[in-house]
Amino acid sequence: MAPKPSIISIVACLMPEMGIGSNGQLPWRLKQEMAYFRQATTNTFGKDTRNAVVMGRKTWESIPAKFRPLQNRINVVVSRQHSEELAPLAPLDSTGSTVWLSNSLTRCLELLPEQVPNLERIYVIGGGEIYAQTSSLCDYMLITEIRPEDEAKRPSMDTFLDSNVVNERFQREESLRGFFPANVKLPESPQIRENGYVYEFALYKVRKAKDQ
Ligand code: NDP
Repeated sequence: MAPKPSIISIVACLMPEMGIGSNGQLPWRLKQEMAYFRQATTNTFGKDTRNAVVMGRKTWESIPAKFRPLQNRINVVVSRQHSEELAPLAPLDSTGSTVWLSNSLTRCLELLPEQVPNLERIYVIGGGEIYAQTSSLCDYMLITEIRPEDEAKRPSMDTFLDSNVVNERFQREESLRGFFPANVKLPESPQIRENGYVYEFALYKVRKAKDQ
């Protein structure tokens, strides 16, 4: 039997409060962060496997129409207005992407491995409501830890992760080494400076039972 796909939240946070959004959008534009997100969620260790990206209806709507569905990934959009627990909207297109709809976040995470063949990883890609409900279901979190270069230019945020929950359940690993297939290009020095921000890609892993 194929191993159960890991469930991984991937999120960019303004530290230390873990702000993730403002006015339904991201307040920053970070090209290298976007490239990392694309590579991390798309590439697989297996030759014939693929990943799914699961998102809330509002996050789906925040992606510019020309960029969705996200290519080469199974896109799953959850909304209580959908009629099915999990159903494809259309077959795989020429870019290897497709959209599935689900009216239940927990059921979709259970059903995806049963219904999508050769599924390697399930990436939970937001937003706030979805991260809050999946923190107890995820095996890992990939957090891009962002800080403003100039504190006076710190943007105000209105959507946050619960940093207490993150720190209680997960432990920050020293490195990302080995977590991704080799074709995911990671920066040579951990800190990236771009557009007035300094940021770092970090891996958080569920603490062992005795540590919790
Ligand atoms: P979400 O993207 O989390 O979507 C919320 C919607 O998802 C709900 O309104 C509902 O849709 C649906 N939903 C929620 N829970 C369930 C469930 N259990 N079962 C079925 N459907 C469910 O919205 P948020 O407003 O919380 O987050 C959006 C914000 O997050 C934006 O600011 C965005 O930019 C930011 N964001 C930030 C990221 C980052 O990495 N920093 C990544 C992604 C988003 P319906 O109302 O249709 O029923």
